[in-house]
Amino acid sequence: LADKLQETFKKLKNKGKLTEADVAEAMREVRVALLEADVNFKVVKDFVGKVRERAVGQEVLESLTPGQHVVKIVHEELTSLMGSSQSKIVISPKPPTVIMLVGLQGAGKTTSGGKLANYLKKQGRQPLMVAGDIYRPAAIKQLQVLGEQLQIPVFSLGTDVSPVEIARQAMEKASAQGNDMVIIDTAGRLHINEELMDELKNIKATVHPHEILLVVDSMTGQDAVNVAESFNQELGIDGLILTKLDGDTRGGAALSAKAVTGKPIKFVGMGEKLDALEPFYPERMASRILGMGDVLTLIEKAQVNYDAKKAKEMEEKMLKADFSLEDFLDQMQQFKKMGSVQDLLGMIPGLGGNKKLKDLQVDENEFVKIEAMIQSMTPHERRHPEIINGSRKQRIARGSGSKVQDLNKLLKQFADTKKMIKQFGGSAMMKKGKKGKLPFNLPFM
Ligand code: GDP
Ligand code: MG
Repeated sequence: LADKLQETFKKLKNKGKLTEADVAEAMREVRVALLEADVNFKVVKDFVGKVRERAVGQEVLESLTPGQHVVKIVHEELTSLMGSSQSKIVISPKPPTVIMLVGLQGAGKTTSGGKLANYLKKQGRQPLMVAGDIYRPAAIKQLQVLGEQLQIPVFSLGTDVSPVEIARQAMEKASAQGNDMVIIDTAGRLHINEELMDELKNIKATVHPHEILLVVDSMTGQDAVNVAESFNQELGIDGLILTKLDGDTRGGAALSAKAVTGKPIKFVGMGEKLDALEPFYPERMASRILGMGDVLTLIEKAQVNYDAKKAKEMEEKMLKADFSLEDFLDQMQQFKKMGSVQDLLGMIPGLGGNKKLKDLQVDENEFVKIEAMIQSMTPHERRHPEIINGSRKQRIARGSGSKVQDLNKLLKQFADTKKMIKQFGGSAMMKKGKKGKLPFNLPFM
């Protein structure tokens, strides 16, 4: 028996560092996943090489097998390859900010123009959309319809004036009307040709856009790479908008286009509707490209410093209903270690297709606020929130820089949660939990 134990022990010990064999095996899977996701072959090769170098010799996290650990590294590297953090639109200190949308026919330029204008309008800006695609009367009409739907002005001079002249006059119009954003829709072609590039270069030289955004259809896979390369070399682009990610594409084109041009993806199109434009989150895209629900769960688990035993303890405490605000704060802090809530939601397997969950807005400021309030309470108050009377409330609110109303809301939500736990028990909580009360029920999902 002792021998046997020793053998097992040895095996476990070997798990300490990633061996070349571990890495090689995991990388085979990763390579397939990337190629299946339509990532460019050359990009895959470079990438795999880089990850292999980083992975060999690394300590394996206790909670993972070596293979899973490699995938975790892959996930991190993919994320950083795509830009790590979200890349925002550059706003010119001297308005208007000029954004020019370029790309092949059917990529989604006109639709994205409308979506972008809508997005900016919601942020309090006053965009002007410019109909620069004069080759098809329908293209102008399409933009005008979008403008009407969104109540956003569209500048058009019909099909007889050159796009360069239209763009020039649009700038004058924007200045006169006080538009702080100008979004220029341009014509595409089925393939890149000189005529198209010349026209775009002329528009660029005339209006000096702050952002030239290349609109790429994520379904086009490998083609997206060549398109992105040509546009970047000939015209120079500042970023990408990746459309049609609501389809079943895994988004490998995104990675390839970014890898080839070095330019960040700024937005993704998630549907035909005019609010279906989202800022691009590299981490979510990495998850999508890897596309493996169970793998992602493991990555998630690895990143969570959350102690399962503690969670269990907490659940028992809750069921006994002596769950205090102190426990609650502790939970929240554990939870925060797991990373941004938005990113976390993006990592939950199957979320990609779940519209309801995706629409759910998690306000991270809410977390900060709640944390501040609880920290401003005395330990006794945290354990016995019922003693928090008027004067205590004032003190806590002052100490945390919040309003008494906020504090009341927190106390009420906490009391409701406690009541709910008592009534239904921990597991039923998810079903009963309402949207928008995430800080309370997410840790127990
Ligand atoms: P353009 O030729 O580049 O101006 O492309 P359009 O804006 O006219 O879009 C071409 C088609 O793609 C239209 O039918 C759009 O509704 C559709 N489209 C654009 N973006 C998206 C998206 O993010 N998701 C989906 N499902 N369809 C999109
Ligand atoms: Mg168009």
